Amino acid sequence: MNKHKPYTLLSDYLREKYGGRLQKVSVDAGFTCPNRDGSAGTEGCTYCDNAAFNPSYCSPEKSIRQQVLEGIEFHARRYRRAQQFLVYFQPYSNTYDDVAKLELLYSEALRIEGVAGISVSTRPDCFNEQVAGLLAGIAKEKVVLLELGIESVRGKTLERINRGHDFASTEKAFALAAEKKLFVTGHYIIGLPGECREEILADAAVLNRLPMNALKLHQLQIVRNTAMEKDFLERPEDYELFELPEYVDFIVSFAERLRSDLLIDRFAGEVPPAFLRAPDWGLIRYDQVLKMIEKKFAERNTYQGATRMI
Ligand code: SF4
Repeated sequence: MNKHKPYTLLSDYLREKYGGRLQKVSVDAGFTCPNRDGSAGTEGCTYCDNAAFNPSYCSPEKSIRQQVLEGIEFHARRYRRAQQFLVYFQPYSNTYDDVAKLELLYSEALRIEGVAGISVSTRPDCFNEQVAGLLAGIAKEKVVLLELGIESVRGKTLERINRGHDFASTEKAFALAAEKKLFVTGHYIIGLPGECREEILADAAVLNRLPMNALKLHQLQIVRNTAMEKDFLERPEDYELFELPEYVDFIVSFAERLRSDLLIDRFAGEVPPAFLRAPDWGLIRYDQVLKMIEKKFAERNTYQGATRMI
């Protein structure tokens, strides 16, 4: 754990390890997803709307190179100029193609000047031996971060959100990533329908057992024009959405139950207001939410792992 903070952020860990900030630049490489193309389903996860998460410079109409160069320019205008970049294969399932095609796409990204590596987001059921072998090979030379969607550890929830795979697939994917010594981040959503606060807190113990390096946490946000918005309007009693102060307190309790070596990628998500139905946290940015969480850790004089149970 970081000497000055009650948890360690993945970004701080990477900065220290690679001697500088690694700025993620998202690309849309034109993938689809087995939960949309009919292999596992056609409707997609009920909360899914990739447009809500895609930066403006991302478009599969453009080459990877063009998206990355525009992304670097976009970040340079807004933030301190970074020296090293990670190309973030973000929307849909970024390992869902044959391995030769994947190799071409990832190589195109890795050839761009200033690119230190790739970050690849995918579903557990799109992660197999060949993909793991490809990523492990790249990881010998470049930074490779694999991001696997867990979303929930409960079968009934995975069915309810039409995830199209079970938790056993998730466990299998994490085991394979660990066997290949890949650096892996799990993505977990806090507050899915039908999950009460006590169940979510208990899930921390299940997450602790997954062999992952980092965890990305999102509060449930209902995105407009999704199947989940419809379900939310029809059955609001199934949804216990978090107001901001409650979430800040809850996430500290959740972190207390996580193993202390689990790096934190994010504590909360950020959907652009135009896409968001609920909850309404106002025009607050993630860095402000993070400051509130940090303050709450201090007020409660606690730290990640403080009440961890096996
Ligand atoms: S796996 Fe991802 S891209 Fe596919 S439907 Fe679910 S959220 Fe959407």
